[in-house]
Amino acid sequence: MHEFSFTQSIVNAVIESIASYDVKFVQEIEIEMGEYSTFIPDQIEFCYEILTKNNDQLKDANIVFTEKKGVVECVSCEYRGTLQTIDGDIQSFSCPDCGEYLTIIEGNDCIIKQLKLMK
Ligand SMILES: [Zn+2]
Repeated sequence: MHEFSFTQSIVNAVIESIASYDVKFVQEIEIEMGEYSTFIPDQIEFCYEILTKNNDQLKDANIVFTEKKGVVECVSCEYRGTLQTIDGDIQSFSCPDCGEYLTIIEGNDCIIKQLKLMK
């Protein structure tokens, strides 16, 4: 379950970024999920609960997920676009123009977009 280490890094980043402020607690954490990332929001929330249960500043935060659209690029021609998906499953990693491989250049990662803090 790679969500666990990912969530750990989120928690660490939040702790670090509120350390220098006088924060009562974190209200909301907005996480931007790349369209092609493989993280499962439910599992992140589950891990978050476990990891923060003894941290009064973090444990009640609401996690909000927003999606970032992905972009792929062909390794061979000028093609740039999105992957063809059906119900969220990627159908093909081949370029529709020339048949070469497509590489993901955006939408492969997850970042903390915003924190709402209660002072
Ligand atoms: Zn191509």
